[in-house]
Amino acid sequence: MKLAHFETLAPVCPLCRRQGLDHALSIAVIERESRDDMAAGILQCTACGAEYPVIDGLPILVPDVRQFVQQNLFYLLARDDLTPAVEGLLGDAAGPGSALDSIRQHVSSYMWDHWGDLDPQGFGPVPGDAAPGGITRVLDAGMALAGDLPAGPLLDIGCGAGRTVAELARRTGRMTLGIDISVPLSRAGRRAAVAGQVDYGLRRAGLVYDRRRYATGQDDDGLVDIWICDVLALPFRADAFALANALNVVDCMVDPRAGLMEMSRILKPGAAALLSVPFDWSGHVTPVEAWLGGHSQRAAHAGRPEAILDMLLSPGPLAAGGLRRQGEAREVPWHVRLHDRSCMHYAACLVAARESME
Ligand SMILES: [Zn+2]
Repeated sequence: MKLAHFETLAPVCPLCRRQGLDHALSIAVIERESRDDMAAGILQCTACGAEYPVIDGLPILVPDVRQFVQQNLFYLLARDDLTPAVEGLLGDAAGPGSALDSIRQHVSSYMWDHWGDLDPQGFGPVPGDAAPGGITRVLDAGMALAGDLPAGPLLDIGCGAGRTVAELARRTGRMTLGIDISVPLSRAGRRAAVAGQVDYGLRRAGLVYDRRRYATGQDDDGLVDIWICDVLALPFRADAFALANALNVVDCMVDPRAGLMEMSRILKPGAAALLSVPFDWSGHVTPVEAWLGGHSQRAAHAGRPEAILDMLLSPGPLAAGGLRRQGEAREVPWHVRLHDRSCMHYAACLVAARESME
C-alpha cells in the first residue's frame, strides 16, 4: 500500500461505513516497508477499533475481515515462489477443480487478457482470432464515451489483473486506485501494474501451465495502487473520485444495484462512470432476484438486461443514486481465453454514465 495513496485517498472504516458513518483509518503497525510502500502491517479504525491487515502490499478493507480471512485463507497463504517442476507436480496431484487449479485458470485468463499484448514471447493462434490485451480496447471505447472528467483521483472497480489501472494513470496522469476482491488476481495485478513485473502460468491444456515472466516496460510514476475492497462497502467518503471504471464486473456483484449506488456515492458531481457488462450472471455469486434481467420474461421489460440497466441509470424509482446514462450504449468485444483450444467471446454492453450535479 503506497503511503501517498493512503494519505490522499484518506480511506474510512468499511465496518463503520456500513452504518453510514465516515471514520478515518490510521496506520497502527508497519512491519515491512520500502520506498513509501507498506508491504505488511495493520490499519485501524480511529472510532470502532476494527483492524485491517496489509499483506503483500494489499490492504484488505472489507467490512467483515474475519469472514473474508476464513473464506480466503487458502489464497492468502498460497505461495507464489514454487519452481516450475514442483508446481506442475502439485498441480497434477491437486487435480482439476482444486483451489490451486481454479487460481491458476483464473489468473491465466485475466493476465493474458490484461498484459498479453506486452509479452515478448507472443502467442500461437487463439480460437476465434482473439488477441491478448483486449481489456485496453474496451477501455479505449469507454474513455471515448466518458468525455471530460472533473479534477480528482480515479477508481477502477474490479480491476482484476490491473492493466486498466495502469492505463488510466498513464492516460490521465492522475492518481488511480484499482480495487478487487480476488486475492490471487490482486496480487498478480499489483505486481504487474505497480512493479512492472508480469509473472503467471499460462494454461496450455488440462493441468499444463507455462510460466510467462517479463517486464511490462511501463513505469507507474507513483500513480498506481491496488487494494482489496468490497464494492458494496467502499471505504471512501462521498464525492471522492472523478471516475469510476467498472469493466466486466457489474455481473459479478452480489447486488449490482447496490454496487451502482455505492459508485454514485463516491463520485463527485459531474464525475463519470464507465460500465461494460456481458450480463453473464452466475447464480452462486448473484442471487437471481438481483440479476439485471435474465429472468422474469413475463414482465414489461421481458427479461432484457439492457432495459433494466437503463432504468438504473435513469430518473425514477429504480435509479441508482445520481448516475445518469450519457449517450447511447454500444457493444464491445471481450474475450476470456481458457486454454490453447478454447476462448469465450463476449459482446459486452458498454455504457457511460455521469453523476448528476444536484
Ligand atoms: Zn470503524
